[in-house]
Amino acid sequence: MPPIPPHPAPGEPLPPPHGVLLIGAGGLGCATALALAGVIRTRLTLVDPDRIALSNLHRQILYHRDDLDALKVEQAARRLRHLAPALTVETRCARLDTPEAIGALACRHAVTVDASDNFRTRFAANDAAIRQGFPLIHGAASGFAGQLMTIDPGRSACLRCLFGAPPPVEGPTCQNEGVIGSLVGEVGWLMALETVKLLKKTGQPLWNRLLTIHALTGKRRAVPLRPDPHCPCHPQPGPVTP
Ligand SMILES: [Zn+2]
Repeated sequence: MPPIPPHPAPGEPLPPPHGVLLIGAGGLGCATALALAGVIRTRLTLVDPDRIALSNLHRQILYHRDDLDALKVEQAARRLRHLAPALTVETRCARLDTPEAIGALACRHAVTVDASDNFRTRFAANDAAIRQGFPLIHGAASGFAGQLMTIDPGRSACLRCLFGAPPPVEGPTCQNEGVIGSLVGEVGWLMALETVKLLKKTGQPLWNRLLTIHALTGKRRAVPLRPDPHCPCHPQPGPVTP
């Protein structure tokens, strides 16, 4: 498998960002990666620390029973390369849950997709995007509810505009509340669609909108958002010139 290139030496310029960084190779990540594999012809970098478990197979559609206990990123990369030989798939078996760790990888990619399953990683990705100015697509699903939004730092609302800070204890997750695999798939495919819009610079990404999906009622709603003037993502007024 192609290794991830080392950091450039201090003072050495970064190569132009290209491709997609996908954080999480669980249910959301599998659906997003599968959808992207049929569309993009650049590189896809998968990051996830975990191994494949039987209880997750219903929503992690890149894996089979024969894959149990294998590293998710390795199996996902194998399937994606077979499906889309033109796609360059890179992997990193790691838990990225600090803004610094996420930012170091994200700055090499054109778009970052947060398909993680915990608030710590989601807020770390959010904060890295705000600090470094890279576009970020956020998605989540648990129980019968899903949501996604796209963050354009400096111009659109971010996770902290909505929630302030991560909750002191992890909220509902796929592990403690369960989730419908088809709902996870829908959110994942929509995140792939957002990615394509950003890469192609077309359409209307979910900037300043939180798309909520309620599986039991079939309702979707694009909740309008505005950057919170007290949030670090909000552009600070420049100096007043006389
Ligand atoms: Zn914000």
